[in-house]
Amino acid sequence: AVDAAALTAWVREFARLVHEQRDALTQLDAAIGDADHGANLDRGMTAAVAALEATPSDDPAAVLKTVATTLIKTVGGASGPLYGTFFLRAAGALDGDDGRALATAVRAGYDGVVARGKAERGDKTMLDALGPACDALDEALGSGKPLGEALGAAAEAAAAGRDATEPLVARKGRASYLGERSAGHVDPGAASSTLLVQAAATALA
Ligand code: ADP
Ligand code: MG
Ligand code: MG
Repeated sequence: AVDAAALTAWVREFARLVHEQRDALTQLDAAIGDADHGANLDRGMTAAVAALEATPSDDPAAVLKTVATTLIKTVGGASGPLYGTFFLRAAGALDGDDGRALATAVRAGYDGVVARGKAERGDKTMLDALGPACDALDEALGSGKPLGEALGAAAEAAAAGRDATEPLVARKGRASYLGERSAGHVDPGAASSTLLVQAAATALA
């Protein structure tokens, strides 16, 4: 079931992947931003795991909320409030412990990032990975696939969306300051949010 323990495992796996990919994420941000995305997210997710250890909860929504508030507190960059919003909205929408409930929650998280960041798909942001992942998850669950398979499809969709950001010109965030010169590089936030979906496929399957 997608209970508090499972969600905690998801968060831990995301933190592990971010830590492992920290330098790669920072390299991506060095090309079109200010070279801090890996450090920002590693700091935030390390703090989120510590907060969950300090205050363990049996309430699945409380787990997501702790992650949200910790990210908002500890990550200075654009990605902190945006990931924080994702987890906060997901927490508020979580109503059950099955795959459908998870899909509804992450869709609400995605909608929250759209509302907060005022970006749309194709602007070369984390939305380009998260949006296709939400669509793939809904579609796979709707056609009766088990959660593990559906999350695998979501992870593939996220990775494809991430890769598709490479030729795009950024229209939101720091990378947009580069204009046409932002093309030719994968968006760092699309790369990190692909790790979030891959972590779900590993930890929640
Ligand atoms: P900063 O740009 O403040 O240094 P980070 O480097 O941590 O913050 O995060 C940059 C990432 O945030 C970008 O790669 C992009 O995916 C995401 N991002 C920036 N602005 C927006 C926005 N308005 N909507 C959605 N995502 C955004
Ligand atoms: Mg940055
Ligand atoms: Mg920054």
